[in-house]
Amino acid sequence: MTTRTTPLDGHCLCGAVHISAVPRASSVSACHCSVCRRWSGAAIWCLDAAPTDVHVTGEVRTYRSSPFAERAFCPVCGTHLWIRDDREGYDLMPGLFEAASGFPLNHEVYADRAFAAVRLQGSHARISRADYEASHPFIEGDAR
Ligand SMILES: [Zn+2]
Ligand SMILES: [Zn+2]
Repeated sequence: MTTRTTPLDGHCLCGAVHISAVPRASSVSACHCSVCRRWSGAAIWCLDAAPTDVHVTGEVRTYRSSPFAERAFCPVCGTHLWIRDDREGYDLMPGLFEAASGFPLNHEVYADRAFAAVRLQGSHARISRADYEASHPFIEGDAR
């Protein structure tokens, strides 16, 4: 992984929300947990960024999807913008940023929970639900 210093400029589908961000790395992660699957359609991809390295203009709506995280979207067009963990910062949606189109997949979490239609090829790290939850708070939402 290389560290980026140049901000990425991104925006939602309708252009009401603009985001300038410096991700922690020039790579993305993926998540197949039940909350991400339901929110996104099947899986999400994320760009990790510290709270101080993300600047947003435009109105944003948020939804508290767990006791420790929120999910944000544009109230006009519905574009998903980020997941923000209270302790770790932003997981930005890579699709907002044209400059992120060449970033490789670094790792996927809840890999053993992936829908058959989105099993990801390649040599990236695959972290199972059990391994992830051994070191992170429980976030599965199957009961809802
Ligand atoms: Zn929008
Ligand atoms: Zn997830």
